[in-house]
Amino acid sequence: MNIDFECTMCGKCCHDLRLPLTVAEALAWVGRGNEVQILCEALPWPEEPAADNLQAAHKRRRSFAAMSGSLPARIVVILTGAFAGPCPNLQADMRCGIYEARPLVCRIYPAEINPFIELDPASKGCPPEAWTPGLAPLLRGGKLVDATTAGLIQRSRAADTADAPAKQALCALLGIDVAALANEGFVVHSPQRAVLLAALEQASAAAAVTGGAALKAPTSEDLPVWRFVSNRRATVDTLESVGALGAWVDPAGETPFQYLGFYPAAA
Ligand code: SF4
Ligand code: SF4
Repeated sequence: MNIDFECTMCGKCCHDLRLPLTVAEALAWVGRGNEVQILCEALPWPEEPAADNLQAAHKRRRSFAAMSGSLPARIVVILTGAFAGPCPNLQADMRCGIYEARPLVCRIYPAEINPFIELDPASKGCPPEAWTPGLAPLLRGGKLVDATTAGLIQRSRAADTADAPAKQALCALLGIDVAALANEGFVVHSPQRAVLLAALEQASAAAAVTGGAALKAPTSEDLPVWRFVSNRRATVDTLESVGALGAWVDPAGETPFQYLGFYPAAA
């Protein structure tokens, strides 16, 4: 697959987002007075997959181990800079106000970070003219032409792995232990800004001191306990039937988190 691309500076990719951030970027984002939300999803992990299962390896490296009842699980935590409308850093001329310090994901867009997702111009916010054949080559034979962007993607994936212990510590500090079933939705936690800033500082300092080693619990007894929630009763029943802790999210009820489901609620 060959794709040509040139940014038109339309600014669409800087609006209405939950922008994935590394722990260091989240610290800077909150430090600038902006909102960071914590998205959590959980994967049932009854046994370690085969070594040649690359998709599982990808999920494993960006998650941490937990128990849900008697079911082993992996928890994926995504820190996001959240904003409705324009990004708080977007200037009136559609230029980035923190260009030199902008997050990795902004530098990489519209390329894909996930190695299992193919770049599809139709799924991007860029206008059709940004993809006009004859512009700068972006992909050749399905591979990124630009070595700088390829390097940034590697940095982003490495940060995903390196940040997992700090994210585990962050959730422990904030008392966050609820996640959606992966591929069914996300649980969105929105701690108060000052509380989040203090917890992020503490979690990243702890992870830096230990290199993450002390934060990785070696036995199932020491693993953090997490609960799965779903807006679909059948999902909760299935999870509970395999020993997990599950709870149904009533769309009309009040919860200390937001449930962002990909499917309609079903009681
Ligand atoms: S940080 Fe800059 S590049 Fe990223 S979304 Fe905001 S304005 Fe756009
Ligand atoms: S949406 Fe695409 S074309 Fe528009 S500013 Fe973002 S990267 Fe550039």
